[in-house]
Amino acid sequence: MTVETEGLDSPPVAANPHSGPIRVLIATGDEIAAARLNAMIDELDADDIETDVATTFDDVVSSLMQRHHTACLISDLACGRSGIDVLREADALGFDIPFIVLGSARERELDRKALHYGAADYLVKERLTADEVERALRFSVERHRTTSALSRLAMFDDLTGLYNRSMFHELLRNAITRARRASRRLTLMFLDLDRFKYVNDTLGHRYGDLLLKEVAKRIRACLRESDMVCRLGGDEFTLILEGALSHMDAATVARKVLTQVSAPYLLEGKECFVSVSIGIAVYPEGAEDADTLIRNADLAMYRAKSKGRACFEFFTPEFSDAARRRVAIEDALREALDKGGLSLMYQPQLDLRQGRITALEALVRLNHPALGVVPPSEFIPIAEEAGLIHRVGDWVLGQACREAAGWADQGLDQMRVAVNVSPRQFQQPDIIETIRTALDSTGLAPERLDLELTESHLAGDPDAAAAVLTRLRAMGVGTAIDDFGTGYSSLAVLKRLPVSWLKIDRSFVSGLPNSADDAAIATAIIGLAHSLNLRAIAEGVETEAQFRFLRSRGCDAIQGYLLAEPLNADDIPLWFERMRRDELLRQITAA
Ligand code: C2E
Ligand code: MG
Ligand code: MG
Repeated sequence: MTVETEGLDSPPVAANPHSGPIRVLIATGDEIAAARLNAMIDELDADDIETDVATTFDDVVSSLMQRHHTACLISDLACGRSGIDVLREADALGFDIPFIVLGSARERELDRKALHYGAADYLVKERLTADEVERALRFSVERHRTTSALSRLAMFDDLTGLYNRSMFHELLRNAITRARRASRRLTLMFLDLDRFKYVNDTLGHRYGDLLLKEVAKRIRACLRESDMVCRLGGDEFTLILEGALSHMDAATVARKVLTQVSAPYLLEGKECFVSVSIGIAVYPEGAEDADTLIRNADLAMYRAKSKGRACFEFFTPEFSDAARRRVAIEDALREALDKGGLSLMYQPQLDLRQGRITALEALVRLNHPALGVVPPSEFIPIAEEAGLIHRVGDWVLGQACREAAGWADQGLDQMRVAVNVSPRQFQQPDIIETIRTALDSTGLAPERLDLELTESHLAGDPDAAAAVLTRLRAMGVGTAIDDFGTGYSSLAVLKRLPVSWLKIDRSFVSGLPNSADDAAIATAIIGLAHSLNLRAIAEGVETEAQFRFLRSRGCDAIQGYLLAEPLNADDIPLWFERMRRDELLRQITAA
């Protein structure tokens, strides 16, 4: 009478086989009725109907959990932990099966009640006949098969045939309920293809679709049939792996998927490559509810991306601390942009040939009542990711020009201001207009503005960068390559770029003068600058020994804590005042 199936063929929600035996679970505390029903079905001698009997609530649940092919439930609506509870539980566990109410002749309005609970039919205990039972069973199961075939259409992704996004949420919730009931673990994986947009953009959407189909097939092939695969849309997939998977098992699956997905594709005669980043969160350690588990798997996926893609990462609670801070900073940044909460500090740059401070570098700060002062190294990358960098950049440029224009009143009418520009901002088609507007609206002379770019500004499209730099030079605006030596500047590109300064990165200054490597690099950058007719400035100069070394090598300017830490705008006049009296600074500037 019972047929054991190994594992699950497909997830429970889709577990109503369209053909095959009708497996009936008789769930009632009325043991006599259960025995009669069972005997009656046996008598039918129908080899396509099989029965299980469960007389307690726990039996029902474990029977459902073990035998995912249950096709029909015959249950009474008795109060307590049977009837209705059974139905609710079956639903929560993701069993979409028809049920037949088993009622007693004494229960009046049995048909109305059955209807109310969504029953497919009802049987009256006192009037059970084999024919009646068979009719009710076949009719309910057949009708359910037809309607669920229709609803299945709404469950799947058209392109890949995998479960779609809305099904994913339901499947995960149900799987968590099952895992909780059985005290089992459950693994959720978030997959995102790497650089899929590039394939789409270069080979076209049709090719992109073909690739997605193939990727879906390969992912499916890596898994057991009981594992659920969903496509959330675009190039995002999720996997729900049930069963007692250890971290090691999960890692093995992830590795398999990574390998399969990254193998070359030959589609329509064209070869292409794609890889995938995977984030993994495990119930219950990684979260106990579906929404948090999803978020945490997603966080782990981003971590995998930031580790260089084509790898997998498990969620750990430290991620969520980092993620919480990230969200808090993004919120603080939006608030600061709307209500004012950004400020600039200024760090003096000393021109060694003229022996005086000729410029101040504007360094942005995010001030927040709860977070305190957030350094740019932390919030600029977040601003870039959140698409806020243009607003930050515009504010910095406007504010720096405005404050610098005001320095004339403090006797600093020649003082230049250096402004850091992010690569995204620099690549905006209207960057020249933005700069011109900032200068015009504040009245700052273009000669008093320097822009600090990094090598990454120039790497993508050196011709476009050269065109913008040429226009800036024609306007009179100066430019520096910041953090020089840490990027991938090609000398061929560098020699064509009309920039004014190379700024030696702090990491090469810190080891001076003792580190032979740093000494060689700093000396080489100064030499390179001079031979290209540029000037060299060193940042992060903290000691007199560093200063003396740089000066002896012909470095044109220095900036760093030796002179001053970044200053509040209000403290600038006072600092200049003090500097004139400071013995060390007098020596340095006089030298
Ligand atoms: P950067 O442009 O290379 O700025 C120099 C950084 O070194 C500043 O950090 C400065 O405070 C720090 N510094 C200066 N002298 C010394 C020293 O002697 N020793 C040490 N250890 N550090 C020193 P800050 O202000 O935290 O800025 C970090 C980075 O954030 C900047 O590097 C720049 O890349 C970026 N940044 C700052 N302001 C802006 C901005 O307005 N827009 C953009 N896009 N980026 C900015
Ligand atoms: Mg800078
Ligand atoms: Mg720098």
